[in-house]
Amino acid sequence: MGLLYTKMKVFHFREKLESLSAKNPDILPPIQIRIKPTNVCAHNCWYCAYKADNLKLGKDMVKSDHIPKDKMIEIINDCTEMGVRSITFSGGGDPFHYPYLVEAVKKLAHSPVKFASLTHGARLEGELAEIFSEYATWLRVSIDGWDDASYSEYRSVPQGEYTRVMKNLEAFKKISGKCYLGVVLITDKKNAPHVYSQIEKLKNIGVNSIKISPCIVSEVSAENNSYHKELFPLVKDQIQKAMNSFADSNFEIYDAYHTLEERFEKSYTWCPYIQIVPVIGADMNVYTCHDKAYDLDEGLLGSIKDQSFKNFWFSNKEKFFKINPSKDCNHHCMVNFNNNLIHEYLNADEDHLDFV
Ligand code: SF4
Repeated sequence: MGLLYTKMKVFHFREKLESLSAKNPDILPPIQIRIKPTNVCAHNCWYCAYKADNLKLGKDMVKSDHIPKDKMIEIINDCTEMGVRSITFSGGGDPFHYPYLVEAVKKLAHSPVKFASLTHGARLEGELAEIFSEYATWLRVSIDGWDDASYSEYRSVPQGEYTRVMKNLEAFKKISGKCYLGVVLITDKKNAPHVYSQIEKLKNIGVNSIKISPCIVSEVSAENNSYHKELFPLVKDQIQKAMNSFADSNFEIYDAYHTLEERFEKSYTWCPYIQIVPVIGADMNVYTCHDKAYDLDEGLLGSIKDQSFKNFWFSNKEKFFKINPSKDCNHHCMVNFNNNLIHEYLNADEDHLDFV
């Protein structure tokens, strides 16, 4: 298996990269779209960026919103026509609470557009599990608690949900499909001592990969880093031990447990990733990115309520340059590193390119 989390994937789309700047009049389709089909979720994780009051993400989110079925089918048809390569379903809410997810993924299954989803895993059962196993490229389940009691406390769900999720994951891997099953361990002070045992347990039930990520507790990078500082030796030791014991060609451990400075500070004045991975929200608004979704002041690109996504996307290029990340994005950004790489790529001096 090749590298799954490498930031170099985007450099396989040369034509798209060349089209990004304002100097080039072309608009090419996004490579990937994150769709938030619903804002409903039965879990209430204390750190959920869409619910935590101290995090800006989701500030204008309406919890009951979901994309109407006809609109979802129109979006999927548009993506197919436009040549969008992939769709990731994510929150807002949990995509598996979306009432038309079966219809949406059945349609995608017979299209060239690849799909994947994030989920809490409690609804990964029945027909949806079968379709995802057979046709989805990957599925990623977020986990924090390490047993029924702790999981219920993290998520305000009834006891027994942890056992249910673990059983769902195990059953999912026994279906004969090709879907790659990953878990992200959201790491905080309480579960930090359990990282190694969680990895061991998840490997034993057949999960393909584990990503260990820090829980985001603040918009301010220094506050995040200070929260995680004392946990670093404990978490890193366990990750290393787990890598030595469990990592092999069928099981990947991805260490994303790191400080967050690189994701906050930005010096560039336009954002390449807006044109690479935009977000369609459950409110039928198109947003710049995951980190500004449901922010109507700073993240809104426009609405597709009364027009197709395809018409909206290709209508004018100026909309992609309204945001100045050096001023408007002084907060967590998932793709800051990627944006910096792309700017460096586009800014390479032509006269000196041959001197590699
Ligand atoms: S937060 Fe990041 S991805 Fe979003 S608009 Fe700003 S720089 Fe771009």
